[in-house]
Amino acid sequence: MHGNGESMQTVAVHGGEPRPGPEGSVVFPIYQGTVYETEPGAGYHDLKYIRLNSTPSQQYLHGKLAALEGAEAAVATSSGMAAVTSILLSFMRAGDHLIASDCLYGGTHDFLTGHAADLGWTCSFVDAGRPETWEAARTERTRVFLVETITNPLMRVGLLDRAAAFGRREGIVTVIDNTFASPVNFRPLQAGFDLVFHSATKYLGGHSDLVAGAVMGGTDLVERVRKTVNLYGGSLDPHAGFLLARGIKTLSLRVQAQNANALALARFLEDHPAVAAVNYPGLASHPDHAHAAELLSGFGGMLSLRLHGGEQAAQALADAVTLAYSAVSLGGVETLVTRPAATSHAGMSPQDRDSLGITADLIRVSSGIEGTQDLIGDFAQALEKASS
Ligand code: PLP
Repeated sequence: MHGNGESMQTVAVHGGEPRPGPEGSVVFPIYQGTVYETEPGAGYHDLKYIRLNSTPSQQYLHGKLAALEGAEAAVATSSGMAAVTSILLSFMRAGDHLIASDCLYGGTHDFLTGHAADLGWTCSFVDAGRPETWEAARTERTRVFLVETITNPLMRVGLLDRAAAFGRREGIVTVIDNTFASPVNFRPLQAGFDLVFHSATKYLGGHSDLVAGAVMGGTDLVERVRKTVNLYGGSLDPHAGFLLARGIKTLSLRVQAQNANALALARFLEDHPAVAAVNYPGLASHPDHAHAAELLSGFGGMLSLRLHGGEQAAQALADAVTLAYSAVSLGGVETLVTRPAATSHAGMSPQDRDSLGITADLIRVSSGIEGTQDLIGDFAQALEKASS
């Protein structure tokens, strides 16, 4: 059950839906128009205009996104990166400092290491599982604490409730990237975070056919972010917004199937003689399993593994799957495998990758919604080829 007592399945289908819909339509239509008649007394930010995030399709989508995370308000963005950069630009000024998890999506990490200094920001990277590192990093100018629910590609889960409490106590805006968990598995605002964001490109959209982002939280904070999005121009196009709202309707069903497939695959892989290690928070062997089980209502669709045969065998596995695709990205209905050292983290030095545990032999899997036994069968045949 979620916030208002309705199940997540119900929220995904009905949350934010106007009843009756326009002209009685059960599906909210796409308002493609960029020009609307000005209402008497309207200010600049009240005008209906797509870049200003104020057209009927956008307002509908924002209501749906807010319902998903049990938030007062939401704003959609043109990508997940537009979501995180807009949040940071809303709360950071030159001379300010932020604390960020040392396990962040590569684009977010690159923004913080490559652009933060140009903006006059300083950033401390900390271990989201070790509160003493946050305490040590905090300065007078710390404005934001940024973490991810489940990290890529080792699927670590930080002490998230403690992180939210730390921010509240210290007067720091706590921000969490909930992309990997989705609101089906974790509701950060209920755990005390100030703002949650998504690469909606992944689970929220769910069909590998759109790029979008979403920011949810209290009205005042989201309004600040919306104004930043309006000014920097990272607003979402109504067509992508329509696909996103449609995808959200099946979010709960999809993620439950993905949770179940990932758990079954993780158990199968853990017992396979060719497999050296499996990283999945739903396994008792995972270092964060105990607190992840308390925090999350499902362990997600993402896992990673290493093979005894090393890098060559890992690449052979990625090449040998036939049902799953060898492809980057995640969260869609089809299972994907990728070797992060050769794809998503290829830009990092081998030393930096190794220090984060992103070894050359690591394979990441985004579970889809295929039949569990079909998926296990595909990995079984691919492992046989990879180890022969
Ligand atoms: N956050 C996470 C966890 C991601 O995996 C990604 C993309 O892979 C992003 C943010 C950025 O999202 P987008 O590609 O929609 O800009």
